[in-house]
Amino acid sequence: MLQQTTTAAVVPYFARFIDRWPTVFDLADADEAEVMAAWAGLGYYSRARNLIAAARVVAAREAFPSSEAGLRELPGVGAYIAAAVAAIAFGRRAVVVDANIERVVARLFAIGEPLPQARKSIRQRTDEVTPASRVGDFAQAMMDLGATVCTPRQPKCLVCPLAERCAARATGEPSRYPVKAVRRANPVRTGAAFWIERDGAVWLVRRPSTGMLGGMRALPDDGWSAAGEGSGEAPVSGEWREAGAVRHGFSHFDLVLRIRRTSIAHQPPGAGEWWPVGELADAGLPTLFAKAATRALDDSAAEHQPQHRDHQDDEAEIPSVVRSRQRADPGPQDCDRQDHPVAPPEQGNGRRDRQQQRDEPDENRNDVQHVS
Ligand code: SF4
Repeated sequence: MLQQTTTAAVVPYFARFIDRWPTVFDLADADEAEVMAAWAGLGYYSRARNLIAAARVVAAREAFPSSEAGLRELPGVGAYIAAAVAAIAFGRRAVVVDANIERVVARLFAIGEPLPQARKSIRQRTDEVTPASRVGDFAQAMMDLGATVCTPRQPKCLVCPLAERCAARATGEPSRYPVKAVRRANPVRTGAAFWIERDGAVWLVRRPSTGMLGGMRALPDDGWSAAGEGSGEAPVSGEWREAGAVRHGFSHFDLVLRIRRTSIAHQPPGAGEWWPVGELADAGLPTLFAKAATRALDDSAAEHQPQHRDHQDDEAEIPSVVRSRQRADPGPQDCDRQDHPVAPPEQGNGRRDRQQQRDEPDENRNDVQHVS
């Protein structure tokens, strides 16, 4: 959960998960749709799918692997998690490099090569300074140093225990490290989502279990993807009203999602379910579709109350039916742009926000905003 997400955002999710699925065996037996719904708003939904898959592997073996190699065989476990778990949980010597350690080591040795190419050198340097014993303590100490002292913008070199041997400090510009490559702008894709209403309920579908936002409940859409634009085709014929759009950032592209509304009296084709609009907060919509629902509801309110003000503040206009869930689950933390840290700028990546961003690719960078 902590990959790409702050501790503050994760705590309520973690508490609910542990309460509902207290052991790895409970999680292995869980209904995947329920787990995905409990994850809604946290973003990076492939983590949830991998978590269930990993729980099933561990439950089948009746043991957690303790070596890095064994851990890496679990779905969703990459180099960072494997090293961190092996060191912290099992006391094995492993080279742990999360974003905080990466920053500390890049500064300690004033590594001038830009990221991501510098990662090999940073790992080598980290290996050099990693002790043979108490590896877990060492890793956690380095993480905390990065989170609280060697922070991204204004490192507190005066109180740093590494100050005397720090090459970056000696340059007088410690915050110049790690050197970052210039980032290219994400491509922008367009698509449409469809709000179909009947008797106070909205038509929701279940997204395919694999792929972006896989297995989540959602509004029907027109097939947009990272690779291409949506078709614009509505799932049913009828009188469609344009309800505006939301912009949503994924790690590899930005999506401008137009929202269209209609009311019908019949059943739409294909699988789906009518969900009471007043209970949308319980639908487990991922943030993108919760915001799309908000846009649709706001447009509906504006249509019936012409004086309804044109909100600028995305959060302020989330209707209560959606907002209750969204506020409990602070979705805006589940972002992923490299220039968009999930932790406060001067708090590093935060204690236990030691997630290595490289273990898992995108999914959900949540900076939804209105574009119309
Ligand atoms: S001396 Fe400054 S730049 Fe160097 S590790 Fe410590 S806080 Fe970071």
